[in-house]
Amino acid sequence: MSEDFSRTAPRATITHMPLYDFRCRACGHEFEALVRPTETSILCPACQRADVERLLSAFAVSTDERRSAAAKASREAQIRGRRDALVAEEEYRRNHD
Ligand SMILES: [Zn+2]
Repeated sequence: MSEDFSRTAPRATITHMPLYDFRCRACGHEFEALVRPTETSILCPACQRADVERLLSAFAVSTDERRSAAAKASREAQIRGRRDALVAEEEYRRNHD
């Protein structure tokens, strides 16, 4: 096999909204947030400030982990679960503002 997957990385694998890790510079809180194309500022859920920095993407897992389909599936399930929680939380906030 001479296929180089790093060069022909399929972009279509990410079909859902990107979930990124952030860290708040103000209070040090680390969190994950969905980033919509229209969203320009991310607020820290702990202190509500926009002074956050993006950490390495949740998709940047180690090469070893990538090789294991089982680990990948488990991680994706985890991310999916957290995303559902985030979406539910956001919906809650929207309804209670
Ligand atoms: Zn904060």
